[in-house]
Amino acid sequence: MSSSSSSSRGALAAAAVPSLSADEAGAAADEAFLRYTSPSLRRSGGGGVAIVWFRNDLRVLDNEAVVRAWAASEAVLPVYCVDPRIFAGSTHYFGFPKTGALRAQFLIECLEDLKRNLMKKGLDLLIRHGKPEDILPSIAKAVTAHTVYAHKETCSEELLVEHLVRKGLEQVVIPQGGASNQKKPRNPKLQLIWGATLYHVDDLPFSVNNLPDVYTQFRKSEKGMHFVGGESAALGRVHEYFWKKDQLKVYKETRNGMLGPDYSTKFSPWLASGSLSPRYICEEVKRYEKQRIANDSTYWVLFELIWRDYFRFVSAKYGNSIFHLGGPRNVESKWSQDQALFESWRDGRTGYPLIDANMKELLATGFMSNRGRQIVCSFLVRDMGIDWRMGAEWFETCLLDYDPASNYGNWTYGAGVGNDPREDRYFSIPKQAKTYDPDGEYVAYWLPELRSIAKERRNFPGASYIKQVVPLKFDGGHQKRDQQFNRQRRPGHMYRRQK
Ligand SMILES: Cc1cc2nc3c(=O)[nH]c(=O)nc-3n(C[C@H](O)[C@H](O)[C@H](O)COP(=O)(O)OP(=O)(O)OC[C@H]3O[C@@H](n4cnc5c(N)ncnc54)[C@H](O)[C@@H]3O)c2cc1C
Repeated sequence: MSSSSSSSRGALAAAAVPSLSADEAGAAADEAFLRYTSPSLRRSGGGGVAIVWFRNDLRVLDNEAVVRAWAASEAVLPVYCVDPRIFAGSTHYFGFPKTGALRAQFLIECLEDLKRNLMKKGLDLLIRHGKPEDILPSIAKAVTAHTVYAHKETCSEELLVEHLVRKGLEQVVIPQGGASNQKKPRNPKLQLIWGATLYHVDDLPFSVNNLPDVYTQFRKSEKGMHFVGGESAALGRVHEYFWKKDQLKVYKETRNGMLGPDYSTKFSPWLASGSLSPRYICEEVKRYEKQRIANDSTYWVLFELIWRDYFRFVSAKYGNSIFHLGGPRNVESKWSQDQALFESWRDGRTGYPLIDANMKELLATGFMSNRGRQIVCSFLVRDMGIDWRMGAEWFETCLLDYDPASNYGNWTYGAGVGNDPREDRYFSIPKQAKTYDPDGEYVAYWLPELRSIAKERRNFPGASYIKQVVPLKFDGGHQKRDQQFNRQRRPGHMYRRQK
């Protein structure tokens, strides 16, 4: 990986997210560190060396692996492995690049920032190229580490790596100090910590295997976007969205937008890389509710974060079935793998401006709104009848915020094969276009050829645009099904807004 950051994005007239200067983001981050780092997190005098294996937790704040390592050791060595399977590998079924260039760049920025922030705490991040199961045992041996601390994952590829690292560490023999032959040599241990969700797995009022299958029971600007990687940018974005721009109080009204940086929080890329903790967001929401206003919008951000938790727990409960064609319920349906149709979707050449604009945004920025994701997913699986895994794997390649549990969880729902049988969605493109892009501003932004067309026709340009590759299954009148999903997404019992 190279760290020449601007080249891949230089051609885009992109709005930085956050739109703060590096100094302003740095100051917001320092303030957050100050507010949320308690003295008890300081080293409490354990012995020996511990390794912190950074994975999808590229942050200092609210990082339990760092805290535990620090508490248990005299010295801490933070390590990140640039795993060739992730950065140079391909997706499982269809062989797309495992990590697209934009996410790779975002992760490089996350690592650079993590290195800087760890330096401030007196720790130097060691970045090594290779597989964690090769690198960690050899480093553990070299520094005679007693433990490798890391965050636990839930999906199969990540679990396999955890297994291989543990096996590798078992082969390492660390001689113990003291009188010779009195203390037996030991192997370094792998200590895995749950830390990616708002709710801790142990705090669930049921075991993950009994996770309810229905979530409700569980409880404008004109520019593309360029996300700045790293914990400082993440903390800067929270500061900007909540406090500086005061957007939190209107989130519920704006969250279905598609154009510009501020219709939604845009926290997801940092959450996925772990540069931002959901618990930190929760604390900031509560602080905002105390200092400014508590309303449906402040509540709704947490509601959405609980969706993220939910899919993580679903992945823990259902294992690999979330990646299978039939999904967790093993639903049998006929799917096509028509390459030409799929490519027209992937490249934004379907003849439906709303689909094409969203797919072009994904390719150019690595991001797509939640509304857009639902629409393009529905179009691929319902109107084209294409194997949903092709769409999911393309998202896996491109998304800055790619997260296996959220991505495959949402795709299985969109394809009607998810764990919740009631999640069977069809999004009617004409209705979505009329509701969410009535003036065709979004499609005209990504498809400049539509700008000369009257606003109300931009989403329905007829012969002025490329030919439609497939007819729609339902061309209207299916608004009931369209709305079904949102009706079901009512607040669950996991979070109650504090009065
Ligand atoms: C087909 C499909 C694939 C998706 N793939 C991913 C993915 O790989 N990674 C990912 O983080 N999100 C994924 N999502 C969920 C959602 O689209 C994004 O989290 C959201 O658009 C990110 O923008 P935001 O941070 O501004 O969200 P906001 O609206 O500001 O929401 C705040 C946070 O809540 C969480 N959240 C919101 N909606 C969802 C949801 N439906 N599922 C899970 N978490 C949610 C995210 O962490 C998000 O950052 C997918 C959705 C669909 C329909």
